[in-house]
Order: sequence, then C-alpha cells, then structure tokens
Amino acid sequence: MDLFEYQARDIFEKHGVPVLGGVVATTPDEARAGAEQLLGPDGGVVVVKAQVKVGGRGKAGGVKLARSADEAREKAEEILGMDIKGHTVHRVMIAAGAKIAQEFYFSLLLDRAERRYLAMCSVEGGMEIEELAVERPEALARVAVDPRVGIDQAKADEIVEAAGFPTKTSPEVSAKVADAIQKLWLVYRDEDATLVEVNPLVLTEDGEIVALDGKVTLDGNAEFRHADHAELEDAAAADPLEARAKEKDLNYVKLDGEVGIIGNGAGLVMSTLDVVAYAGEKHGGVKPANFLDIGGGASAEVMAAGLDIILTDPQVKSVFVNVFGGITACDAVANGIVAALEILGDEASKPLVVRLDGNNVVEGRRILAEAGHPLVTLADTMDGGADKAAELANAAA
Ligand code: GDP
Ligand code: MN
Repeated sequence: MDLFEYQARDIFEKHGVPVLGGVVATTPDEARAGAEQLLGPDGGVVVVKAQVKVGGRGKAGGVKLARSADEAREKAEEILGMDIKGHTVHRVMIAAGAKIAQEFYFSLLLDRAERRYLAMCSVEGGMEIEELAVERPEALARVAVDPRVGIDQAKADEIVEAAGFPTKTSPEVSAKVADAIQKLWLVYRDEDATLVEVNPLVLTEDGEIVALDGKVTLDGNAEFRHADHAELEDAAAADPLEARAKEKDLNYVKLDGEVGIIGNGAGLVMSTLDVVAYAGEKHGGVKPANFLDIGGGASAEVMAAGLDIILTDPQVKSVFVNVFGGITACDAVANGIVAALEILGDEASKPLVVRLDGNNVVEGRRILAEAGHPLVTLADTMDGGADKAAELANAAA
C-alpha cells in the first residue's frame, strides 16, 4: 500500500524523523483554516501541496507557496480538482514553509534479488532522481543494508560519506543527516515498509535537516501486525471493481484490456493472461481486462460473484473462463457456471468462452453443452479458447 505524503509525514513524526507541521484539507476553507493555524500571528510562508500518489507534483503545478491564509485558500482552490498524471486531487496538505539552503535525496527499499535492503542517497536531491540515476549515476550512492543489522550509526555514516556530504568541512550537517537516516530506518523496520523515500531531504537556512516530502510503501503481507494501518487505506480512490472484489474475498486485479479472465490458481490465471495477450495481437490488439483467481473451490456462488464483477466492467467485451478441474472437478465447475448464469440472468450479456480440463472433464463439458446457454462457447484448448475470446472481444469492440 502506497501512502499519501501527509500520511508519510505523520509516520515520520511518530518515529522522530524531523518534519514540519502539516494539515490536510479537502476544501479551500479548510485549507485557509489550516494555514492560519500554521502561520500564527507572525506570518511567514506555507506550502499548499496536492496529495496524490504520484511523483512530480511540483513540476505539474501541484505544489504552491502562499504568504497568507487567504492566499493558501486561493492556491488550494486552484489545486483541488486538478488532474496530475491521471490522479484527481481530492485533498491538499498545508505544510509549514521551509527556507531551503540545500536539497538532498534519500531512499531505502527492498532489494529482492539480493535479499537485503538498499539505501540510496545523494547530495543532489530535489530533481527527478530517475534523471540523476541515468545522467550522473556516480552522484547517487547505493549502499547495501543487511536486514539483520539495519542502519546503525556506522551504516548511517557510511551512507552519508558515500552520498558525497562534506563530512570533514561540515560535520554537523553530516551528523544530522546520519541521525535522520537512522530514524528513517526505524520507520522502515517498525512499520514494515518496502519503500521509504525522502526527496527532498533539506538543509534549512537555520542549519536544520528536514524531510520535506515523503513516500512510503507498506508491505501488505505484514498487515496482520499493524492494526493501525487499515485506516490508512484510501478506500475512495481504490478502483471500485477492486473494492467490490475485495468485499467478496476475490483475488481480483483490474487491468486495462477487453477480455475478462477467470481461472483457478494464480499460476494458471497468470499464464492465461499471457496467452490472451498473445492471441490479442492477431485480433485488433485486445488485451486481458483483469486478473481473477477464484481459487480451488469454484462453487456457483464464487463463479457468480466473479462473473458479476467482470461483466459489470464496461471495458469488458468477452470473457474467457479457464479452469483446471482438481479437487473441485469439472462437473462441479460446469454446474457452477450454469448456476451463475442463472443467478445473473440478464446481467450476463457478453460472450463467454469456457475451457475446462482435468478431473471429470467429459462430464463437465456435457453439462455445459446440454445447458446450451446462447452466450457460452466451449473451447478444447487454452490457446483455442484465448483465440476465440480475443476474436469475440475484437468483434464487439
Ligand atoms: P514532488 O514534486 O511531488 O516531489 O513534491 P515535493 O514535495 O518534493 O515538492 C517539490 C519541490 O517544491 C521541492 O523539491 C522544493 O523545491 C519545493 N518545496 C516543497 N516544500 C517547500 C517549502 O516548504 N519551501 C520551499 N521554499 N520550497 C518547497
Ligand atoms: Mn518530492
């Protein structure tokens, strides 16, 4: 789960990472009130920042300075509702303004291939780090972190040195950065994150180190250890089909194509996606519309719930049901499909290609053939079924 910047800010604060005050607002008036609270009687500067889970907000006009509460209200009005790389801005964070002397970069992430963590750090922050990594890779230090040790004082010092901080000439700055990095390690470890990124980590004109932006990804597999993480979930922004599938305990991921996919077993569904994408190349470039694994027990209810979600996706033009009968034999799956179509009635309005194989396949096919549903086509092979489903989707597109 990716967090919004304001959620990352809160988590940083909880673990002692230096951050500035921040208040979330969903309306211009709330933004005004938030700015008033942060500015206090002496005035100063606040920053109005779009809260969307995508980088480059600054360049897109989603980060604006304001010198008064009224100005913050105006800027919030401009930013709320803005579209940034396909993400609509539903809320802004009003942040206390920093006087920036220098911008740095730090991130810590999971290095799956090496089975450890990787810290990346540079004295050249602020800009798009991907650009820096390509144009001047030597300016971006990469330091391996042993998960059993984590980032202790020695490791933090190593990272700071490798990143190019002038540890000799300004030891205080280096020490503060090393301290912030150790606190960011606590965020990473104690919250079960897979990514913690700060860009920019800044040196202020007063000589303080502050995390001005934060990107945190939490490991969904560790959810059971963090009851408090559930409330961070942005239910409103999640794909509505994915949200409904989750309610029904279905393993569903929305994709961008036209051929709905249902299968049993993650491996089979993954290969079905590949086969359909391949077949689609010959049929107008149609692609899989989703991943949906209905698991071992393909009961009528589960089949109906799965079909229901896929058929209500307006992008879907045809559906490919690819099931390998195991403990739940093909005849049970076939009965499930027939019953599901009955449950759905008129809602089932798109062509279905069904390929069954495995345990009791002959009986399964007989049941479907006998039911003779006008929308159902039987396929003998996975390739054949994928081809037929792609052809039907292309014809309907
Ligand atoms: P991003 O573009 O989505 O990464 O958003 P950031 O939060 O990193 O903000 C983009 C840029 O806005 C930063 O690199 C800073 O240069 C600038 N910025 C952000 N907060 C402040 C602030 O408090 N004061 C000043 N002067 N600039 C800021
Ligand atoms: Mn940033």
